[in-house]
Amino acid sequence: MTDFHHYRDISFSGPEAIKNLQERRLREHLLYCSQNSPYYHKILPDINIDYAHITLDQLSDLPFTEKAQIEQYNDDFRAVPPSKIVDIVLSSGTTGRPTRIMYTDHDLKRLAYNEEQSFKACGLSSDDVALLTCTIDRCFVAGLAYFLGIRKIGAACIRNGHNSMGSHGEIIKLMDPTVIVGVPTFLRKLGLYLQERGIDPGQTAVSKLVCIGEPLRDKHLELLQVGNDLQKIWQAKVFSTYASSEIVTTFCECTAQKGGHLHPDLAIVEIIDKNGTVLPPVSIGEVVVTAMSVEGMPLVRFKTGDVSFLIDDPCPCGRISPRLGPILGRKKQMMKIRGTTLYPQAIYSALEEIKAISEYYLMVTSESDLSDKIAIYAAVNEVSCSADIIGEKLQARLRVKPEVIIAHEETIKKQIYTPKARKPVRFIDKRYN
Ligand SMILES: [Zn+2]
Repeated sequence: MTDFHHYRDISFSGPEAIKNLQERRLREHLLYCSQNSPYYHKILPDINIDYAHITLDQLSDLPFTEKAQIEQYNDDFRAVPPSKIVDIVLSSGTTGRPTRIMYTDHDLKRLAYNEEQSFKACGLSSDDVALLTCTIDRCFVAGLAYFLGIRKIGAACIRNGHNSMGSHGEIIKLMDPTVIVGVPTFLRKLGLYLQERGIDPGQTAVSKLVCIGEPLRDKHLELLQVGNDLQKIWQAKVFSTYASSEIVTTFCECTAQKGGHLHPDLAIVEIIDKNGTVLPPVSIGEVVVTAMSVEGMPLVRFKTGDVSFLIDDPCPCGRISPRLGPILGRKKQMMKIRGTTLYPQAIYSALEEIKAISEYYLMVTSESDLSDKIAIYAAVNEVSCSADIIGEKLQARLRVKPEVIIAHEETIKKQIYTPKARKPVRFIDKRYN
């Protein structure tokens, strides 16, 4: 296994050097999986490929790994004895049964290296003080990964987690953080909260916001409303970062803010269509990740269920590595409305631009085999903002006109914030399938 103490970022090297290193890592990874992971030990030998000499082009001949398989054969994916596992997190399974994702000490070091490279790319240094507004416990890995990365850079970390606005406000006054890591809509609320109390977020020491969990940009890499609001309120640069527990790999924007850089020494990313065919850069499809040098639960061609695209033109920052575009939605949440393909995120972004809407969720039902029907439930704080006005604004933006139902904020909140769900629920899928 690779030693991440003396590792060098290969992202600035030429395409040939990157390809050679990726091929070497892929061969090591596949050999490791076939020898140590009971799941891959069973399935990989059936495929007629010489793993010791596999090329990157041949990766597409290997089978995918789906979330449902990890859920069903959870222990068979563990490639080390239980004594080597040091951290266990939960990932929500497809049937609602949580799946364990198990990391070794080596995997946490790998994650720290990954986050270190990510944070460095968006300009963090040992001089920074980073406030974490995401949880580091409750069986999530994200907060821990950010903490490890910030520590590896040598910056200071304030782990205030899922705390109240008041608490974060006090911390900002007391400790002068220069960076905040958090969910964009939460960071906007926090900024507005400070403004209401006479504190101008633009005058604080915060100069960077590293945004997690929700996209900041659209498919043209232009900032969404929430991104523009954050820049205006905080007078700070905003960066988007993406990861998931299974892929043990993070993608973060650099200072050029043109997509999340892939660290080519750590993972290979493919974008596939609904038939599993690998798509060229810029084409939109499902993100598939093969994370290499993972020890605890190594995966081959993991289908994330997230939809995005790769960008492979040179980045102004000088890195040669491809970038991952913003996450446009979840594959299973894709909606078809009379021939137009739409993801909930596009509707959320359009709703975010209507200032009078305070809360919302959407419900999708099947209108026919070929078309879905969308209903939007919204609470408004201005009586003049009628369902018709919202419907027309959405039509202008999305080219489809969903039904809009105005409801009380409390009723809507009850639907969104349920104790059972780990995240706010804004998408209710009542289609046949
Ligand atoms: Zn860059």
